[in-house]
Amino acid sequence: MGRLIKPYGAMNSKGRYEEFIAATGWKYNRLAYCLHWISHGRRCRCYDNKDHYDWMDHTSGYTRETEHGKERMLMCQPYGLNHPETLIKAAEEFNLDHEISGRGWYGHGTVTIILTPHGQRQRESERALEQTRKQVRERQLAATPAHLDKILTDWDE
Ligand SMILES: [Zn+2]
Repeated sequence: MGRLIKPYGAMNSKGRYEEFIAATGWKYNRLAYCLHWISHGRRCRCYDNKDHYDWMDHTSGYTRETEHGKERMLMCQPYGLNHPETLIKAAEEFNLDHEISGRGWYGHGTVTIILTPHGQRQRESERALEQTRKQVRERQLAATPAHLDKILTDWDE
């Protein structure tokens, strides 16, 4: 009771799963595991399993709240990606962005496939850029007059 629920394989990830959660803020949702959910955001029971691909192995769904609303992400960690064309086709069909990397938490030589609703990643990177700009502005404002004097003096020379 009260046990923290984790996806399959997390216990054997040597802490990579916990690091991933801590670094990204994603929260695992055990009821989210299919292309319909990542596409529409609604819970799906997937009785017919018709949109299941061989690369949907060790699949886990995540959500997180941002100031711009709720984001969701589906991660698949298959041992290989033998038919990438089926991934590209599914991403188009379900209006998703996809990323392929080796940065997943499962390990054991798996490939990491990340699927997000189309446009979400773009908004995410724009937010990150805006955050960096804000930090730069704050640092500039925090600069002491002595610093500014030095900068202005240097420019005059
Ligand atoms: Zn479904």
